[in-house]
Amino acid sequence: MPRPIQATIHPAALQHNLARARQAAPDALVWAVVKANAYGHGIERAFDALRAADGFALLDLAEAERVRALGWRGPILLLEGVFEPRDLELCSRLSLWHAVHCDEQIDWLAAHKTQAPHRVFLKMNSGMNRLGFTPGRFRAAWARLNALTQVDEISFMTHFSDADGPRGTAHQMAVFREATQDLPGERSVCNSAATLRQGTDAAVRGDWVRAGIVLYGSAPDHPERTAADWNLQPAMTLAARIIGVQHLQPGDTVGYGSSFTADRAMTIGIVACGYADGYPRHCGTGTPVLVNGTRTRLVGRVSMDMLNVDLTGVPGAGVGSEVTLWGRSSGGAVQPIDEVARAGGTIGYELMCAVAQRVPFAVD
Ligand SMILES: *Cc1c(COP(=O)(O)O)cnc(C)c1O
Repeated sequence: MPRPIQATIHPAALQHNLARARQAAPDALVWAVVKANAYGHGIERAFDALRAADGFALLDLAEAERVRALGWRGPILLLEGVFEPRDLELCSRLSLWHAVHCDEQIDWLAAHKTQAPHRVFLKMNSGMNRLGFTPGRFRAAWARLNALTQVDEISFMTHFSDADGPRGTAHQMAVFREATQDLPGERSVCNSAATLRQGTDAAVRGDWVRAGIVLYGSAPDHPERTAADWNLQPAMTLAARIIGVQHLQPGDTVGYGSSFTADRAMTIGIVACGYADGYPRHCGTGTPVLVNGTRTRLVGRVSMDMLNVDLTGVPGAGVGSEVTLWGRSSGGAVQPIDEVARAGGTIGYELMCAVAQRVPFAVD
């Protein structure tokens, strides 16, 4: 028998969450963001459930080829554009739309020989200071692109730094609007957080929203709002089984560093999941977990191949019992990935992207 750990992808949840993104931004077109191998879910495993999207957005050219190989003929957008001149040949061949965020990318386009002109998304740095042209240089970049025979339609995009937090999007929206107001073309500004929180505001949502984390059932603005608050369903479950049981006396310690000491007689389960499976080592005593669908807690340190759970209050649990690290138990109870991430000092995005190669995946 293989080691009892498995990740399961839930296509019905992906479909539900995509519908939620659409509903949150009425009349907008929806990019399904499937970068990082669909946030760790697997492009091939997620594709069918997401094909109701209007397009797929990603970064990696090899991932774009995989989406085309699945038979997708609609729009594909390279969110960071191309990385070297010859990438433009693949864009021409697979008719990929691509972001243009720097002068070098315009130089490469100007030198590119293509039969079919390209659709590009000119990216503005409206304050995040990652990729894009600053507002003062945006118009010149547009004029250069607009003069190229290699370019067909020009659309506009920017990315928010604080759509999930108190600073919000207004300052960046003002900059973006001011610098693009008389330029013709479609607009795309919203990530998941902006889509959920502001998608009903026509002035913010634009023509295309870029739905990433919302599709996978994690709340972009946790803990202010939970996935349940947004009516999102987990698209991934990480589950394992108990492979050992220990009965502790008061004063007994657990695991490396003896970081947990029992203050009473208690029973713990040893679970076949550790940091080499992608479970965060930073999650300490108290991190929530489900055993046979019942909520309990981690105790002690997560080790490479195992972690330990408190079986107090989980009668009947023992070797073979189902442990839901995140996602949905076989009985339907949900352990939000966002709670585990928070206990480990990170976000749901990182956990779902980091499930290790050695964990087998299934699709339900
Ligand atoms: C990843 C990404 C998104 C999606 O972000 P979420 O927070 O997952 O919705 C949107 N736009 C760009 C440019 C991205 O890189």
